[in-house]
Formats: sequence, C-alpha cells, structure tokens
Amino acid sequence: MEYSQLVECYDRLDATPSTLEKTAILAELFADAGDLLPELTGLARGRVFASWEPDDLGVSSSLTVRALSDATGVDADRIGDWRRETGDLGDAAAKAVENRVQTTLFSGSLSVRRVYDTLRGLATYEGPGSQTRATDDIADLLGDASSDEARYVVRTIVGTMRLGVGEGTIRDALARAFLDDADDAVRAVERAYEVTNDFRVVGETARDRGREGLDELEAELFRPVKAMLARKAEGLEDALESIERPLLEYKYDGMRVKIHVDGDEIRVFTRRLEDVTEQFPDVVEAVRDEVTAETAVVEAEVVGYDPETGRPIPFQEFSKRIKRKTDIDELAAAHPVTVHAFDLLYHDDDPLVEAALSDRLSRLEAVIDPGSETVVRAEHVRTDALETAEEFYGDALDAGQEGLMVKNLDAGYQPGSRVGYMLKVKPTMEPLDLVVVQAKWSAGRKSEWLGRLRLACWDADCEELREVGRMFSGLTDAELREITEKLEPLIESVEGRTAKLRPEVVVEVEYEAIQESTKYDSGYALRFPRFGGFRDDLGPEDADRFERVKRLYEDQ
Ligand code: ATP
Repeated sequence: MEYSQLVECYDRLDATPSTLEKTAILAELFADAGDLLPELTGLARGRVFASWEPDDLGVSSSLTVRALSDATGVDADRIGDWRRETGDLGDAAAKAVENRVQTTLFSGSLSVRRVYDTLRGLATYEGPGSQTRATDDIADLLGDASSDEARYVVRTIVGTMRLGVGEGTIRDALARAFLDDADDAVRAVERAYEVTNDFRVVGETARDRGREGLDELEAELFRPVKAMLARKAEGLEDALESIERPLLEYKYDGMRVKIHVDGDEIRVFTRRLEDVTEQFPDVVEAVRDEVTAETAVVEAEVVGYDPETGRPIPFQEFSKRIKRKTDIDELAAAHPVTVHAFDLLYHDDDPLVEAALSDRLSRLEAVIDPGSETVVRAEHVRTDALETAEEFYGDALDAGQEGLMVKNLDAGYQPGSRVGYMLKVKPTMEPLDLVVVQAKWSAGRKSEWLGRLRLACWDADCEELREVGRMFSGLTDAELREITEKLEPLIESVEGRTAKLRPEVVVEVEYEAIQESTKYDSGYALRFPRFGGFRDDLGPEDADRFERVKRLYEDQ
C-alpha cells in the first residue's frame, strides 16, 4: 500500500469530529489492509509499537528538524519559524517540502511498509553515530515524501497525530471490520486487547479466526499487560461497604512492577511497561532465590529501605534508579529492597488474569518461600469489621506506608482500568499526576528559572492533553532549579517569557479544590495547586485522566 493512501485516510479522520465516522473510516482501512493490517492498527493512531513495547523512537524534535533541513535544503531556522507560526512540526514539515530547494536524485515512492520499518528501525540505534544514522534515515524518507506525506511522517515521529483516534476507536473499528455486529463483539475485542496489549495480534486474530480466535487469546510471558488501577475510596468505612468480600493490604509507597519468570530468565517491567531488569538486579536475584515456579508473572510493589532506620525511603528518591545506567550496585547496596508481592497473573503456564483474586493469591502464597525476607506477600488481613480494619490501617501508617488497598477477593484482574475491584484509602486529599505543557521564566531574583507551570491531564478518549490550571506556588529554590533543568531541553517555542514545552514531564500536584473554568480547555481549574514532586516513573499518557478530574469535581 502506498503511504499516500494512508495519508488520505488521515485527512478524512482529521476532517470529521464524529467518533462513529472515524470508526467507519478505520474499519474500511482495516478490512482492505491485507498483509499490512498489523502495521495499520498502530499507524492509525501514529504508533509503530504495540502498547507493551517501549514507545520511544529516541528521536528529538531538533533531530527531526535537522533531517527535514537535510532532505529539503531549507534552513533549520526557517523550519523553526514555521513551526512557531503553525504550532505544529508536521505543518512546518509540509511547508519545508513545498519550499524544497533541492530534489533528491534517486527519488523512491513512500510505501506504508517503508515508513513503518524505517521508524521502528530508529529505536534500535544506540551509541556513537546513532543520531547521525537516525537523521539520515529520516532525511531519506522525507526526501521522497510529498508535503502531505511529510506532515504525517513527522507527526508520527514526534508523537502528535491529534486525529482523535484512541485505543477505543481502534477496538471498535476492528470489531466492525471483522466481527458480526452482536452486542458483545466490541467486548470480545476489548478482552483480547486487555490480555495481549497488542492490536497487531488482536487485529489479525479477529480477521483470520473471528470471535473464537479472540476468545482463545491469553496473556503471555514477556508481553506485559497494563496495570489494573485503583479507585479512591472516601474512607475506610466506605471502602468496606462497597466490597462484599474485602481483603485489606498495606498500600506501599514504592515502584509497581510485574516480574516475568520463565525458568532462569527473569525480567522486570514497570507500570509503564518499561523493561528495568538491568536497573534492578537485586529484584531479579530475590525472585530467582525465593519464587519457586517454572513460569510466573508476579505483581509487586518494590520498596527501598533505609538499613539504619528500617523505614521506607521516599519513592521520589527510590525511583531515580529507573533511569540509572551506572552505579546501580551501589544504589542497591545503600537501600536494600523488599519485593512486596500482591498478585500473580500467570503461573506454570496458566494465565490467571480472569481468575478470582482469592485463587490468584492462594497460588501466590504457594510460590513464595515462606522463610523469605526479600520477597514477601504484602501485609494483609481478611476482615469486614471496621475496628479491625482501622487498627490495620494505623499499622500501615505507623510502618511509614501510604495507607491501605481494599480489594475484592471475587474479582478478576482488569488490565488498564480503574475499576472498583481495588480501592485505595489514604489519609490526604488525593493528589493528581499532571503533565507540564508550558512554563514561564520567573520574575526578579529568580529570573533564570522556569516556574509558573501550566498543567494538563490526559483525555484517553481522544488521546489529547487538556489543561487544568497553572501552578504558581509551593516551589522552593532547589525545586525551581531542578524544574528548570528538566524543562529547558523540552522547550518547543518561546513567546515573551513563556515557553511551550514538549509534554513529557509529569508532576504530582496537590490542590484544595477543583472549580469550573473557561480559561482552560478541560473546562476545569485546580484551586491552589502545589508542587508535590516529580513522577519520573510516569509518562504523559499515564497522567491522571480527564474523566477522573471530572469525577473529582462532581464528587467534591
Ligand atoms: P497513587 O499516586 O495513589 O499511588 P497511582 O495513580 O500511582 O496512585 P493507583 O492505581 O491509583 O495508582 O493506586 C494504586 C497504586 O498503589 C498502584 O499503582 C501501586 O503502585 C500501589 N500499591 C501499593 N501497594 C499496593 C498493593 N498492596 N496492591 C496494589 N497496589 C499497590
């Protein structure tokens, strides 16, 4: 298939605000996709990786501009100006191609396969010379692109498709293209996606083997599924009342991981599905020594402890290891970890995602060595008596942990959803994790530093960020310095003292209330937002959802 055909489809998606129409357009694309169906399920929303693969091409906007300049002969500064004018590097790319001052000698056409393979290839480059190779590859593609093609190639590279196509749209379109229109067709696709986390597999299965094939898809080792998320309970009493057979567990303030075990091979994935095996050799060793299963997926909260006080070290401190490349052994020695296991999603070749929590936990109990100190089951109690629960809650807080999780023992695991199978009880007002999209240089003494952060939540329906306010206060000098260091490399454009940023940094934000507001495109604004720290473990798509902001507003 020529890439120009896909571009036509993108333009049609862009032209309609209707989700139903978008679904119909994509269903048609998928039905005619032939061999390219797996690739198109990703490209339709600007992705070349499955959800379980790290979604990082390793390409910055400035590298893309350089490649554009190489391909077209247009000066990089001019491309930068167009980008500021249009607010979109894709549109700037289209302009650069229209104003091309050189033509390539060996012009080839752009096929979907070529674009897909080239972009996936970019992520494999490492070490010296990798930037040059990536620039050359992108320049080659853009050298053969029409202006419309360049627009979408660049948007795919920098992750700004903005076509209003989310996971839900892909799911509905696959159901429509390949299943009869029974009521539960969409749910069949959704279930298959939950357990595989991979629309490439789901798409081909739906087409080639229909409903039956989808029903047979199961979770697999080393293809992590998304984490089930918790709802916030109003309080302990409320949590106990809303779950019939509750299990109470400590809510640890650590790093949530899924540990995949296949004999001697052990890999550790974060909640963002990043593979952090190299960063956590101590976790690997603990699991190797203490978990007795041929195959398993253990879900756990990993906490680093201060060896002198025995208290957990703050997560902000501990999470620095996620990005570390050096001195890992020293960090591991300074803060020995405990793996607090709380779920088992796969065991000795049985996928357990759909099994009841009580079954998953009895299997979990059976695979952990009871004498182990490094891998232990999360502290828990099975009770619905408020008094016992309150005492247990007090114990959790005394131990320096965050609060309690209250879980439904009869429920399955619902990957990626914030369902009521798991409630969290914490003493403070629930903070939000928000993406920083804009910042302003401060005034006076602090004029070197970026502050005044504009914050956005994530609208999962259309995969877009929505702004929810600006944070002025609560920042110490040290924090302003750290914020500036983190944000400066992300500046996309500057107007006066305001810098527009690539949305990559997520911060935890405390606030007093949520109010309606016409100032921000979410329709809401946080009252008195305060900085609660960086969430280096989260990416923009893990930020709090627009739905949640709306619900918090309605509930308050
Ligand atoms: P928070 O900021 O409150 O941790 P979150 O947005 O990071 O919330 P939620 O799903 O809302 O994530 O809250 C549940 C989180 O609590 C899990 O992601 C996990 O990291 C952590 N956690 C700690 N202890 C447990 C436990 N025993 N069972 C499940 N999750 C736990």
